Amino acid sequence: MKAAVYQGQGTIALEERDRPRPKDDEVLVRVHAASICGTDLKIVRGGHFRVGANDTRVLGHELSGEVVEVGRHVSFWTPGKRVSVVPNIGCGHCEMCRRGFNNMCPDYDAFGINIDGGFQQYMLVTQPALSGGNLFEIPSALSYEEASLVEPLSCCVNAWKDLDVTPEDRVLVMGTGPIAGLFLQLARAYGARQVIVVGRRAGRLAEIADQGATDTVDSSTVDVVEEVMRLTGGRGVDVALTCAPAPELQGQAMACLARLGRMNVFSGLAKGTRVELDTNKIHYWGIRLMGSTGSSVSDYAHALRLVETGKIRVRDIVTHRFGMDDAVAAFDHALSGKGMKTVLFPQEGHLA
Ligand SMILES: [Zn+2]
Ligand SMILES: [Zn+2]
Repeated sequence: MKAAVYQGQGTIALEERDRPRPKDDEVLVRVHAASICGTDLKIVRGGHFRVGANDTRVLGHELSGEVVEVGRHVSFWTPGKRVSVVPNIGCGHCEMCRRGFNNMCPDYDAFGINIDGGFQQYMLVTQPALSGGNLFEIPSALSYEEASLVEPLSCCVNAWKDLDVTPEDRVLVMGTGPIAGLFLQLARAYGARQVIVVGRRAGRLAEIADQGATDTVDSSTVDVVEEVMRLTGGRGVDVALTCAPAPELQGQAMACLARLGRMNVFSGLAKGTRVELDTNKIHYWGIRLMGSTGSSVSDYAHALRLVETGKIRVRDIVTHRFGMDDAVAAFDHALSGKGMKTVLFPQEGHLA
């Protein structure tokens, strides 16, 4: 089988590998779609604290496929079932796992991070993933491509659920990548009265506005805080999300918040970065400042339902599709920052 393998900083290469054999308590999945995430690109550019400097790894944690082989102790999963996975597998016994937060487990394993993921034609689903509820059967209405994109949406759902968005709210989304697109769609689905998107590339802003923005702010030409205040009649926004790794966005988002505002710093910053925040504003205005990372099994289930019922159209964030032979080109393309979401289709002659 073919696998697109991370071979250390800066290198992805197509390799011919033996098709894995599932152990007695494992499942083998034929991967049909795997989308490239900012995290994959971050690993290719500079590694990851869970990927050693000399490790080779099949990346890819946003994937879907079909069960093709199961170990003899596996009963529920049978060949032919269409599936997708929640990538972060909790240890199952720590305080976070016991509370249902597999994504907050300090000893997590994850597909495409420290175990081989979706950028290959066949992927093993390990026993802890099966017992952790990380394998999902996908509804027949979903294409493989859509199913692969449930994962990034589930990370957005994780952030979204504590922001308590209502139709009274004005929402600010900072960034113009696929995650920003999904938040715009969530804001629309939850009926937010005004949805403002901020970006520094006019073309990209115009492209992303269709996902649900009522207003766009081009940060390369105007002062972001002044413009958001103008657009909201001087009131500010109730909810703000920072979806790009630029430190200044966090201060701008905080400055744009109205009383009782809620904010999620969704995009992580380079290690060691410190940002100054007006904590008196947090105090006197009752601001709730939050962060989130990854998704739990229940966030994933929630996201799957939003896609199945058509409330979120994950297909709308896809701009480029590649076959397995072009896997290296797919990465080069994604690394160039052009387009929104790039999806890889590992099976021969199978695109979308
Ligand atoms: Zn991801
Ligand atoms: Zn744990």
